[in-house]
Amino acid sequence: MAGSLAITAPAVWGGPGQILRNATVVAEGGEITYVGPAAGAPEAEEDVFVDGFLMPAAADRHVHIELSDPAAVLLGGVTAVRDLAWPPDVVFPLADASELPTFNGPLIRAVGPMLTAPGGYPTADRWAPPGTGRVVRGPDDAAIVVGELADRGATAIKVSLNAEAGPTPSDGELAAICGAAADVGIPVTAHAQGKGQAERALGAGVDELAHTPWSERLSPQVIEAMARSMRIVSTLDILSRGRDTPEVRTALDNLRRFHEAGGTVIYGTDLGNGPIPPGIHVREALLMREAGMTNEGVLEAMVRGPLQPGAPADLIALAQDPLEELGALEDLRLVVRAGRVVLAR
Ligand SMILES: [Zn+2]
Repeated sequence: MAGSLAITAPAVWGGPGQILRNATVVAEGGEITYVGPAAGAPEAEEDVFVDGFLMPAAADRHVHIELSDPAAVLLGGVTAVRDLAWPPDVVFPLADASELPTFNGPLIRAVGPMLTAPGGYPTADRWAPPGTGRVVRGPDDAAIVVGELADRGATAIKVSLNAEAGPTPSDGELAAICGAAADVGIPVTAHAQGKGQAERALGAGVDELAHTPWSERLSPQVIEAMARSMRIVSTLDILSRGRDTPEVRTALDNLRRFHEAGGTVIYGTDLGNGPIPPGIHVREALLMREAGMTNEGVLEAMVRGPLQPGAPADLIALAQDPLEELGALEDLRLVVRAGRVVLAR
């Protein structure tokens, strides 16, 4: 079949509980068309054998891609990213361009700017160029902005609840943001920082926290309620950078209890906003494990979904088995994005 690719490996992880031995994955037109025994796999134009552990590629759900190197992100095994705040006139065209097969980087989804209050985070922060924050002036304006961002293809709406850095949107504005986002069917993610802000996000119906809360220990009641209605993007190592800090301890304590309560954790690094290396960040994975997740749970949090027909043909192969040791995520043998081999060694 023209343009098709078959990858055979001694071990294929298709998703939780799904390990196949000596299996083949076939891709065509950017999608997976077959996952199963190597014997009996359909013929493909290109055949690759990789002596390692084949699995879905990683997705980083919290990046600022313009502050990193898209080509290095892709070569590092991350084939999809979600940009959580950048000027819309830059990031939405970039997200469009990332859909082309010629794009030298991961697939990019973007939220555009972070919605904030006059003088609020990140309007005065050095990392954020003008336009990274969008000031909302009243509930009506907030609802209009959400509609505009949705029309431009925003994958979520980001709201700044950073009370440590300045004013935050009012309760009325926050309610309008959540209501307007629900109307157009996109989730709301919040940067919650400062006492009571995570609880505020919870009460307003925010769908996700863009960081594990680190500025306070959340009460058991808040954790329980959050586990039922919100998910958390990990971003643990940005608080740690490989060291033991009070911030990462508080975050680990919150995330451990959130995970135990059944909450959904997804992998994200805040790439670009600090010294996070491009590609799969093993320290982030190890911290997620420290928060009580199993190795398989961490892998599940890092991928877009199981390997199955119809899924995007985004794959990586590792020299060793990460279910035994997460450090294996560092030793890539193969990266495939949209059915194209972008790294093979
Ligand atoms: Zn960020």
